[in-house]
Amino acid sequence: MVEFWQENFSLVRSIFSSIRISDVADVLIVTFLLYQLLLLTRETRASQVLKGLAFLFVASRLSVLLHLTALNRIIDLVMNSGAVVVVVLFQPELRRALEQIGSTNLWDKLRTPDDPDQHLRVITELVAAMTNLARRKVGALIVIERRTGLAEIIESGTRLDSLITAPLIENIFEPNTPLHDGAVIIREHRIVAAACFLRLSEDRNISKELGTRHRAALGISEQTDAVALIVSEESGVISMARAGKLTRHLDAHTLEQAITPIFTTTPPTMPLLSLLAFRARRRNHDASQ
Ligand code: ATP
Ligand code: MG
Repeated sequence: MVEFWQENFSLVRSIFSSIRISDVADVLIVTFLLYQLLLLTRETRASQVLKGLAFLFVASRLSVLLHLTALNRIIDLVMNSGAVVVVVLFQPELRRALEQIGSTNLWDKLRTPDDPDQHLRVITELVAAMTNLARRKVGALIVIERRTGLAEIIESGTRLDSLITAPLIENIFEPNTPLHDGAVIIREHRIVAAACFLRLSEDRNISKELGTRHRAALGISEQTDAVALIVSEESGVISMARAGKLTRHLDAHTLEQAITPIFTTTPPTMPLLSLLAFRARRRNHDASQ
């Protein structure tokens, strides 16, 4: 019995002594990269492709194990040419990924710690502005910057640096005023630009009744991780574009629910914890009103 334990102990010790620091670093880096890849593709069409690739990979390993040579050859063929197809199909997503790697926003985030009361204030002002604009059927397009820097888009418009307030947003979109055409860009808790030009979505499946404002919103949500809020001038309907998907017919409540996580979980370090902390603060805030 003693011998058995000694043998096992020395085996475990030899395994651990053969692990180098570089092995640990290797595993940690790969885990981090996989986690980032999952975060990046979550809720996008790329996540479906990732699932497909994972399935093919497992099938390929199984076919080797079970000596299914013909099947293995076919799967390998699909996977080899698949790499090129994926690059072509997911050019916007890949671009977004590379942009995020070089994002300067991360540094800004480290410098400016999150202020929970500001989050609440910004959400309240945005919801008030959107619902007031919708009631009056004034068209609007607001882009909320997240991790992908929108410097190029900001340059296309008129730079501002103002607090987010409902009256200011309503004023910007007032028809026949200099800044009403184009998109407002929000960074952190400030309006940084108005009258900005966005690249339109090229998605052919967009309903014909939606014009360029909605296509511009969808475009930015495909090309970056930004979220775009729209008020339709024709119908007064409030919509939100996120990760290339359009959610329509939002009201004050559903809009607030939809945008709250945007302001509370931007750095994906511990989304659950920050969301719980935010909920608790909101309860305190509501109670003190
Ligand atoms: P609505 O329901 O409000 O009519 P829509 O989706 O039908 O919206 P249009 O009627 O074509 O779109 O809206 C035109 C307005 O959308 C423009 O006046 C401009 O303010 C905005 N817009 C159009 N294209 C862009 C763009 N590329 N970038 C930013 N804003 C744009
Ligand atoms: Mg229109």
